[in-house]
Amino acid sequence: MSHPPPNRLRRGLCLVLSAPSGTGKTTLTRALLARIPGLSLSVSATTRSPRPSEIDGVHYIFKSDHEFADMVADGALLEWATVFGRRYGTPRAPVAAALAAGQDILFDIDWQGFRALRAALPGDTVGVFIVPPSLSTLEQRLIGRGDSPAQVAERLAGARADNAHWRDYDHVVVNDNLNDAVASLTAVLLAARTATSRQLWQPEA
Ligand code: ADP
Ligand code: 5GP
Repeated sequence: MSHPPPNRLRRGLCLVLSAPSGTGKTTLTRALLARIPGLSLSVSATTRSPRPSEIDGVHYIFKSDHEFADMVADGALLEWATVFGRRYGTPRAPVAAALAAGQDILFDIDWQGFRALRAALPGDTVGVFIVPPSLSTLEQRLIGRGDSPAQVAERLAGARADNAHWRDYDHVVVNDNLNDAVASLTAVLLAARTATSRQLWQPEA
């Protein structure tokens, strides 16, 4: 009888990317999803308003405060946190289904979300903290993205606070050259897939 080879029969994993806003998580996330088969994005629920380019159900599931509170009360969120005064949370059901099916999920969530996700799914979570080359580069990226001066100031202050949590993560990647950062993240995911602890495979008797 033939068995599926190692790494084909395995539990999925949660690859978490956290970074100060403006570092490039969205850009990196898109590049990884385009490049790596078997990887899908966890679409968070949020009470913030959509940006012009954002589509409900694709980039976020946009909820009113009341609807979000109902999701929390129903236990429909694996974790949730308040970021810049708005609530964000990870829907529970799609994550459970993907992990059981051996599919990997990419998360763009902050350090609070990573901490909660790791506590909820110990052993299934690989965390990468992404840093900009410098705070002045981060400022340029925020300005270049079109953030208002008030948002830039708020996000730079947030970056200093976020950076305090980098040691909680398994890996740190500098998003300087985009292709290099994508290559590092790809290497992290491919290596994590091969971890002995993830395998459901058994050697042939
Ligand atoms: P985040 O999702 O972390 O808030 P974005 O992906 O929106 O950040 O990136 C912020 C800005 O920086 C965008 O304008 C993006 O095009 C730019 N950017 C992202 N990565 C790089 C990079 N490696 N080099 C130069 N600019 C980048
Ligand atoms: P933005 O509003 O710029 O899309 O995201 C703001 C922050 O919220 C980012 O740091 C992002 O990582 C975080 N975030 C997005 N979704 C979630 C989530 O489901 N849970 C948590 N804890 N943080 C999230």
